[in-house]
Amino acid sequence: MSGSGRSRWDADVIVVGGGVAGSSAALLLGREGFRVLLVDRATFPRHKTCGEGIMPEGVAILESLGLMDDMLAAGAGLARGLRFRSHDGTWAQADFPPAGGKAACSVVIRRYELDHLLLQRAAALPNVTVREGFTVSEAVYEDGAIRGVTGRATGRLSSPETLRAPLTLAADGMHSKFHNRYGIEKTVLKRQRWGIAGHLRGVDGIEPYIEVFFQEGNEIYAAPLAGDLVLVAILVEKEGMGAFQGHLAEAYHRFLRAAPGLAERIRDSEVLPPVAARGPLGFRVDPIHRPGLLLVGDSAGFLDPITGEGMTLALKSVQAAVPIVRRALETGDASDAALAPYAAERARITHDVYKLTQLMLDVSRYPALANRAVARLSRDTALFQKLLGIVTGTSRYRDLTLRDRLALGLG
Ligand SMILES: Cc1cc2nc3c(=O)[nH]c(=O)nc-3n(C[C@H](O)[C@H](O)[C@H](O)COP(=O)(O)OP(=O)(O)OC[C@H]3O[C@@H](n4cnc5c(N)ncnc54)[C@H](O)[C@@H]3O)c2cc1C
Repeated sequence: MSGSGRSRWDADVIVVGGGVAGSSAALLLGREGFRVLLVDRATFPRHKTCGEGIMPEGVAILESLGLMDDMLAAGAGLARGLRFRSHDGTWAQADFPPAGGKAACSVVIRRYELDHLLLQRAAALPNVTVREGFTVSEAVYEDGAIRGVTGRATGRLSSPETLRAPLTLAADGMHSKFHNRYGIEKTVLKRQRWGIAGHLRGVDGIEPYIEVFFQEGNEIYAAPLAGDLVLVAILVEKEGMGAFQGHLAEAYHRFLRAAPGLAERIRDSEVLPPVAARGPLGFRVDPIHRPGLLLVGDSAGFLDPITGEGMTLALKSVQAAVPIVRRALETGDASDAALAPYAAERARITHDVYKLTQLMLDVSRYPALANRAVARLSRDTALFQKLLGIVTGTSRYRDLTLRDRLALGLG
């Protein structure tokens, strides 16, 4: 917003949340010269439950933001593909197909480091202000439009403070303050899964691949960081959460030590705190924009971490939002109609990944199907690479033919 209207605002854009979505939004909008005010209830660096593997398209975006060297210096590991282990002990392995003539890789980095790096990059811009330790409680909702947020210092009984802007980006994650209010409906999916994540030191046989262990009612993910640190996440059906009652870190280690194919490799491992659980994971949100408001990252919806695409989708949805925010600020029109192209763009971005996620969820649900699919992939690297191409952006879901799907189903 320009001219005389500008003085009634604390910023051009308020970003709620300084995770991957919020910090990258602040960085991109800040670089365009907009006055950005980012608030987060946490003080950084902070932990975030995650599988911590950024898929190649997300890596390319972070590289374009100039973060690659910092990520490597902060202990990131590189993975050049995926390895699946089925219930019956069969392994399948494939590298990510090259993209744009370059070898593609996944970057595995602790969220404790990544989110802090991104936030610092944004905060270094003179026109970006970051307020950590500020918890948003509600939006400023006037005449059917969002005009900023109200919140207060996290954990304090200080008086509430109102921050105003013509546009607000809700990047406050799965449990967004904007859900089920202001006409925004959140629907939690029927199949409820939970994630438990931590880090292990002392895992044998680690190679530069993200490993996925299909087990009855859950999958385990092991992703290599630098040194001998490994992120290990468990995705489990709600019914299986009983195994994690009591001391979470102990239950987590016990669970992993009983996992075929992994147990023997982690006999001498130690768990590095924290271990944290998060769920239920899958939900849809509609609409993802209101006058004066866009939801980006997880706050706009999340299906399941099974394809490791959450951060990449967050980065891509922010990239899609930036030109729409720019136009809204330049024209002074942040109406529903002006922001509507964002919903179409996000639907396009998530389409193939959600389809692949659904396919993977079906495979993970039925052990016999997982056995057949992994057996097939162990013999058919081209098919495995076609699947990986969907997450690297080099193939489309529609490239999976009926024959491919039958091959996966029949083994
Ligand atoms: C178990 C598990 C495994 C996963 N594995 C992967 C993986 O391997 N690869 C991948 O790419 N993705 C993975 N994901 C998904 C990924 O973690 C998310 O998609 C990603 O973190 C989304 O980023 P975000 O910025 O939208 O939200 P978040 O990272 O959740 O950030 C939200 C921010 O908002 C702040 N906030 C929240 N409420 C308020 C408030 N009221 N006021 C102020 N601030 C607030 C929080 O403090 C936080 O900093 C996984 C997720 C889970 C749960």
